[in-house]
Amino acid sequence: MTNHFAADVLICGAGAAGLTLAIELARRGVSFRLIEKRREPFHGSRGKGIQARTQEVFEDLGILDRAVAAGGVYPPMRVYCPDGKFVEKDFDERPQPTPAEPYHIPLMVPQFMTECIMRERLAELGGHVRFGCELSGFEQDEDGVTAKLSGPDGEETFSVRYLVGADGARSFVRGALGVDFPGKTLGVRAVVADVALTGLDRGWWHQFNDGDMQRMLSICPLGGTDLFQLQGPVPPEGDINLSAAGLEHMIAERTRRSGIRVHSVSWASAYAMNARLAERYRAGRVFLVGDAAHIHPPTGGQGLNTSVQDACNLGWKLAAVLRGARDDLLDSYEIERRPVAEAMLGLSTRLLDAGKRGDIRRGREVRQLDICYPDSPVSVEFPPRRDGLRAGDRAPDAPVRGAAGQPARLFQLFKGPHWTLLVHGQGQVAPRPGLHIHRLGERGDIIDTGNHVHDAYTLAEGECVLVRPDGYVAAISTMDTEGTRQLEAYLDRMALSAHEEHPL
Ligand SMILES: Cc1cc2nc3c(=O)[nH]c(=O)nc-3n(C[C@H](O)[C@H](O)[C@H](O)COP(=O)(O)OP(=O)(O)OC[C@H]3O[C@@H](n4cnc5c(N)ncnc54)[C@H](O)[C@@H]3O)c2cc1C
Repeated sequence: MTNHFAADVLICGAGAAGLTLAIELARRGVSFRLIEKRREPFHGSRGKGIQARTQEVFEDLGILDRAVAAGGVYPPMRVYCPDGKFVEKDFDERPQPTPAEPYHIPLMVPQFMTECIMRERLAELGGHVRFGCELSGFEQDEDGVTAKLSGPDGEETFSVRYLVGADGARSFVRGALGVDFPGKTLGVRAVVADVALTGLDRGWWHQFNDGDMQRMLSICPLGGTDLFQLQGPVPPEGDINLSAAGLEHMIAERTRRSGIRVHSVSWASAYAMNARLAERYRAGRVFLVGDAAHIHPPTGGQGLNTSVQDACNLGWKLAAVLRGARDDLLDSYEIERRPVAEAMLGLSTRLLDAGKRGDIRRGREVRQLDICYPDSPVSVEFPPRRDGLRAGDRAPDAPVRGAAGQPARLFQLFKGPHWTLLVHGQGQVAPRPGLHIHRLGERGDIIDTGNHVHDAYTLAEGECVLVRPDGYVAAISTMDTEGTRQLEAYLDRMALSAHEEHPL
């Protein structure tokens, strides 16, 4: 194998996971190529629910406002009774934002719009997707991966240090690695289709025959478009007519209404639901992210969200290792993310069962705000803490005020590819590129006007918290001699060296 690398990372697949990873690498100055075998962008709405934690990630990536502007929030539901009358309800709880958790309400953004916004952000950072380019083989050795690509210009050999399979549920990369994908087929097949229709009010998400697995039908207006997304279970075998006439017939038959007309179908699919989890997320220099690593029923709207967060977790670690951090930092990707997918698989399958009974209720767990990595080797406390915020927890937001008087939020301070150290009181850590240090308390640059930092972080005077680039607490430490020594050593391990050039 050649030692000449054309780029540091090859990302196979430009869905939500591959695009997120590309943004993460681009904003850290890591060289990569992002390939996509489709000739043009995917145009279906399928993963339309953006959960609270992903909204926080989107804020960090600089795309949240664009996503809200493009889509919106879910409309309330109309659940129809057999006699044609309906009851109105919210499909989810709508809790108010809190200082620590600014987002609670799921956004509805059709997946093709989310991906379009991500491509736009990537372009701002100097990256792009190579459409029509397929990974057809690869081999790896100790130093790197040599990939075979076929694209519009023919076949090409491309050498990189790392390959990431973001290539979806039928992942070529996973198959080529021989990584098992155990789990089960759930015995439910469903139709999902984006249609232009008339005869239903766009102010509501219409649900017919709740809990009846033969006749259930959900018709949801897709924010930011003139389309509706239609979803409903269909028999496990046999052809399904996905034409406008076929779907109009299905609607008439299931709703017992004759006035709903389907004028066109912009995308439709009939798919069997599965719950599967890759046995490993890493094989040497090759990683799996997103649906390549986990698939599950769409109930609960977790898949795209989990995929985006996988990519965020892996992105900063790849960049750190390419800058000189120890390779075992990359092992923490699977250690942290695989249990999250395992729990998400259980949650979506439970919600699917509840849906079959017509009793689906989505609570706090779907918002993904409680994901944490307490057992990760990357989460450290000097000395160990018993209560309050712990290493591995999601770093909460808090409204604060800058010493110059301007209102700010912790999330604004965290936003970007850097690490953040919040120090309560005195104590010194050597400044280093890629680390932003803020101080609370007397002569601090941050004023905790409403005590929100205090409430969320429970830091005593003389303690500090180190926040990872992906918004989780890396370390909580005292700022005495020993604590500071441990913290400095931790930062060195993350390749945040005090005397090196850093692209940030
Ligand atoms: C009906 C439905 C509803 C859903 N609703 C939600 C929801 O509300 N919320 C939610 O979070 N999720 C939802 N999901 C799940 C969500 O769509 C997926 O989890 C998400 O698309 C995963 O993103 P990904 O980037 O990992 O994979 P994908 O989006 O599948 O992207 C993988 C890409 O890799 C490309 N590729 C494959 N092989 C190669 C190769 N060899 N070379 C180059 N490129 C390759 C593919 O063409 C594809 O574009 C839903 C899914 C369905 C089916």
